[in-house]
Amino acid sequence: MTLAGCSTLDQATPAASPATTPPPAGDQDAILQRQRARESSARTYARSFPIVPVRAHGMTVEGADGRRYLDCLSGAGTLVLGHNHPVVLDAIRRTLDSGAPLHILDLATAEKDDFTTALFGTLPAGFADRARIHFCGPAGTDAVEAALKLMQTATGRRGVLAFTGAYHGMTAGALAATGSVAVKQPLPPAGEVTRLPYPYGYRCPFGVGGERGAELSAVYTERLLDDPSGGVVPPAAMILEAVQGEGGVVPAPDGWLREMRRITAERGIPLIVDEVQTGVGRTGAMWAVEHSGIVPDAIVVSKAIGGSLPLAAVVYRDDYDGWLPGAHTGTFRGNTLAMAAGTATLRFVAAEGLADRAAVLGARITARLEALRSVLPVVGDVRGRGLMIGVELVDPTGAPDACGALPPAPDLAARVRAGCLERGLIVELGGRHDAVLRLLPPLTISDEQVEAVLDRLCDALTATARDTRPEGGA
Ligand code: PMP
Repeated sequence: MTLAGCSTLDQATPAASPATTPPPAGDQDAILQRQRARESSARTYARSFPIVPVRAHGMTVEGADGRRYLDCLSGAGTLVLGHNHPVVLDAIRRTLDSGAPLHILDLATAEKDDFTTALFGTLPAGFADRARIHFCGPAGTDAVEAALKLMQTATGRRGVLAFTGAYHGMTAGALAATGSVAVKQPLPPAGEVTRLPYPYGYRCPFGVGGERGAELSAVYTERLLDDPSGGVVPPAAMILEAVQGEGGVVPAPDGWLREMRRITAERGIPLIVDEVQTGVGRTGAMWAVEHSGIVPDAIVVSKAIGGSLPLAAVVYRDDYDGWLPGAHTGTFRGNTLAMAAGTATLRFVAAEGLADRAAVLGARITARLEALRSVLPVVGDVRGRGLMIGVELVDPTGAPDACGALPPAPDLAARVRAGCLERGLIVELGGRHDAVLRLLPPLTISDEQVEAVLDRLCDALTATARDTRPEGGA
């Protein structure tokens, strides 16, 4: 049977086809066994994907067992050009051959100068004109720390406004702004963050979805900030994602983002947009803020800006630059190879119009997945922006909530993820309940690869839903 949305399912779909040449890696099982014995129990992706990658090109990853996978995780949204793209490799090789220092703290280099020019060249006008950049330790979380600290210094206030479902990183300040209770629980309470309702249409915090729910979220925010007894510590900043990634691929309506900009501007609260995952074309625009046209006070960048190597920075309006020398240091702020790889990536994405392509392909993929909803009741919601796509899986036998959303189905989602892996597709989960399949393919994905991803995903979904149907179910 061919399902709507799985139109090419009955064509031959080589799942996890064996590699033509055996990879020169050790025995996969032995390596995995040693990893389990020696690495921490906090490891994550390694649990979901028990493979030992030995080679990767584009969106194909080859394991030590000779199997090949289409990678829709892309280094947690990092690899906008896929693995080992020729322009990235060329940039790295050229830099290596030039004899440039690979590690140089925060000294000026031609590579950093070039990177900054390329980055500023992509930022929205009105922001780039008055932008300053601070290079951080090479992780998104450190750039979030820097952004919060910058605004705390500039405003002399301590509080932070952050949203339900947010993910900003794992270091203390970023973790305080993150929503997930499970990862925060072991730490002492961070009392300075006020949690605001993110406009999550499918599971709306106000019991009404869509634009109305987003309006209510904005009204609530405004009322709370103006309530002298609302318990809000005077905020140094509001931090948000234009599309929540780890929170389950939840795009905020553009109107809501404009409301957040208005509300913060009217109250002198700096607005930080965390573009760590949404940046560099991923959402169908070079930067996700472009969809709504808002001009934030700071943008946090990492992941794709390093062209697959570690790099992170905060870019902000120059009038917030009240830091003393050394206010936010870090040894590894001068990764020359990452700057060169990042410059090549930024220029390639812009020159090839890959953000537009992400918009077109994203619409095609979501339309195909949307068609699945009518035939597969476990598909509760399909959403996203550009090539940042989420499929929320639900329990069709459960009772709907006030918005009509069915209970999340994390176990089913984990089985679908495993089913995808068996079929040669790497897809990770996210969302409040770990029930959202997240697709983050490279922006260079070909039309044929789009079809293969959809075939494998549909096949895994259909088979898993069929196997979990209640006894006697239709
Ligand atoms: N912000 C967002 C929006 C992210 O998605 C992430 C990582 N998933 C981070 C911050 C933290 O980045 P890192 O893991 O590099 O610290």
